[in-house]
Amino acid sequence: MIARVALDFAVRKEFDYRVPPEWDGQIEVGSRVKVPFGARQVMGSVTALIDQSPHGNLRSLLKIIGQHSLVTAKVLKLARWIADYYCCPLEIALRSVLPDTVRKEQKGWRERLCVRLLPRAGDLPKLTGRQREVWQIIEEWKTVPLQRLLELAETTAATVRRLEDLGLITIDSQISERDPFEGEVILPTQPLALNAEQTGALSRITKAMDESADRLSASPSSTLHAPRSTFLLHGVTGSGKTEIYLQAIAHALNQGKGAIVLVPEISLTPQTVERFKARFSAGAHHTLVAVLHSHLSAGERHDEWHKIRQGRARIAIGARSAIFAPVDPLGLIVVDEEHEHSYKQEEAPRYHARDVAVKRGLDEGAVVVLGSATPSLESFYNAQCGKYQLVELRARVDDKKLPLVRVVDMRSETREGKGVPIFSRLLQEAITKRLEKKEQAMLFLNRRGYASSMLCPQCGYVAECPNCSIALTYHRRLEKICCHICGHSAAAPLVCPDAKCRSPAIRYVGLGTEKVEETLAKLFPQARIARMDSDAMRRKDDFRRVLGDFRLGKIDILVGTQMIAKGLHFPNVTLVGIIYADLSLHMPDFRAGERTFQLLTQVSGRAGRGDVEGEVVVQSFTPFHPAIQHARRHDFAGFYAQEIEYRAQLKYPPLSRAALLTLKGRNEDKVKFLAEHLARELEKQLKDFKDLILAGPAPAPLLRAETFYRYQIMLRTRRMSHLSLKLESTLDHFRPPEDIRVIADIDPVSLA
Ligand code: ADP
Ligand code: ZN
Ligand code: ZN
Repeated sequence: MIARVALDFAVRKEFDYRVPPEWDGQIEVGSRVKVPFGARQVMGSVTALIDQSPHGNLRSLLKIIGQHSLVTAKVLKLARWIADYYCCPLEIALRSVLPDTVRKEQKGWRERLCVRLLPRAGDLPKLTGRQREVWQIIEEWKTVPLQRLLELAETTAATVRRLEDLGLITIDSQISERDPFEGEVILPTQPLALNAEQTGALSRITKAMDESADRLSASPSSTLHAPRSTFLLHGVTGSGKTEIYLQAIAHALNQGKGAIVLVPEISLTPQTVERFKARFSAGAHHTLVAVLHSHLSAGERHDEWHKIRQGRARIAIGARSAIFAPVDPLGLIVVDEEHEHSYKQEEAPRYHARDVAVKRGLDEGAVVVLGSATPSLESFYNAQCGKYQLVELRARVDDKKLPLVRVVDMRSETREGKGVPIFSRLLQEAITKRLEKKEQAMLFLNRRGYASSMLCPQCGYVAECPNCSIALTYHRRLEKICCHICGHSAAAPLVCPDAKCRSPAIRYVGLGTEKVEETLAKLFPQARIARMDSDAMRRKDDFRRVLGDFRLGKIDILVGTQMIAKGLHFPNVTLVGIIYADLSLHMPDFRAGERTFQLLTQVSGRAGRGDVEGEVVVQSFTPFHPAIQHARRHDFAGFYAQEIEYRAQLKYPPLSRAALLTLKGRNEDKVKFLAEHLARELEKQLKDFKDLILAGPAPAPLLRAETFYRYQIMLRTRRMSHLSLKLESTLDHFRPPEDIRVIADIDPVSLA
């Protein structure tokens, strides 16, 4: 037998190796293996088992790692699709599919020595007083980790060994799982009685799950068992989406299948995970719920992954990469907050976990539920076209009203000779009122630091990053000017750095959270204020501590960046202020409007979650922008109708699919020249694509980042899966010099 192997380091090729006959039956597609490569020994994954190879003189495999194949054949197929669609070598795709800690040979289960009581025939032999004490503890525990015993009995290993010699106990090593939630007590919950809207939604989902299972049992090998596609569950926050997920998962478990739940990293809080554990780790279903995300230690991640692979955990919950969890058979995939950009990986393989979910669902006959209060234009468009089924929840479960949103026109707030204030009169009054009533407020500004740039009014000098084409942000507490792209920082100058000018009149202009906090403290000296952004939250438990204090009412006003925009639930917050709503509108990105609508809706959703109705004040210089006006009225449908028209006119996604090619290098002329060359080459190679739009090359919105100049070419077509194959081969032949890199991003979400 011959094994075809994709090696871990990228060589865009698979290699054949002979399988020694005695390993027959031990090796499968997906097994991890060690193979000879040149003079080296390298690791790889088996991608196929074949009888004959076109190559002669094959070398033998050196080692099979682990007893089980690590990637199932199904997940391997998914990796191939990712490599093809997202234009990357299979090895790179496999790297995402299999967590590092699982791939590496060294990392195993944690083993620890345990002391076990042996059944005893006859009388206890004669023991010293000390030995007897230790033995009594063991008798009580039956099994106890050696380390624990030494602490409990305040004894030494030698004493314990003596008991072993006497045949009373045995000491052996046992696997002990690292459990990130060790020691937590979670109270089990029962399914809630659903309201009419929820019942309707759930029954459509479970019906599709049943149909898919029927088709699968009728013809297991056919690909026709794909469920009628995917559901888009559109419902405001608090409309009971999560309860529907929970009951749909229960249905999957009843079918003997498992489920994957994806949530954005930022909302993967212990509370979220607890909701799932509480429903499933006790009671009838009794399955483990495995958690996969980037804050786990390597060992924890290894154990969580294997719990799924061994079938002990049938529910996997996690961020982006959990879409590759080896749940098998898979009945359901939930993608919560499907519009979130963090589902897109910004390094190779540049996959979008939502789209991978839809593909995986199709391949494995699993039903996919995409949930959101503000669906992406892509998903809503797919629902409109009938590709996804739209399920809407129009009311909040508790019939609570959505908060009243008021938009303040900041252009009319300008004070005589003093420029624009940070707080409009309306917002100031609203804060005063809430403070008097002992209610809480949240103020949102998506920019940290004190001022967004340093400017000399004498000579016009602006402090820019030496590595990036961007102004440096002033951080007052640190007395530094910092780059938010590359992290460069320097002491804040006291006079103009221009040698000819040296004016002491330099000014810091623009606004960041630090300044909002400071001004707020001056306006409301009695208020207790806290700031939440990545500057203020440097240590791991800062986040928990501030949120805890806020929950206990020890803080009146919380100022923050998008860290406070999502998922937080504080019943006593009755006012949300959005300091500068235009910030995200001015991004050089065709999704700027969509992003603003989503952000405003999300942030507004933090107000009025308790018994008192909430109020939102939005400050803007373009108060009549459709994104702001539709967010004010909580009108997703209206926003969608207007936005889709604009996308259609310009043939932007979702009416086409985009591929963004970025060329980067340190020499700007060279980058530009090669970008032009590549564009001409693409025009030649892609002339069969009738609907192709090729735009560029043009300087990237952020021309220079981390010392690299960047030029971009954007391609748009409706037939992306064809295009990306063609693109891969064109880029393969286009061999840029070593100091220039070409990056292909299919369905990009970030255009900067
Ligand atoms: P969403 O995920 O849409 O934000 P949730 O599922 O979290 O909504 O529901 C919001 C709150 O309402 C939760 O506290 C949940 O327990 C509760 N809830 C959901 N469905 C019901 C129901 N049918 N009856 C009573 N309470 C419900
Ligand atoms: Zn100057
Ligand atoms: Zn920089």
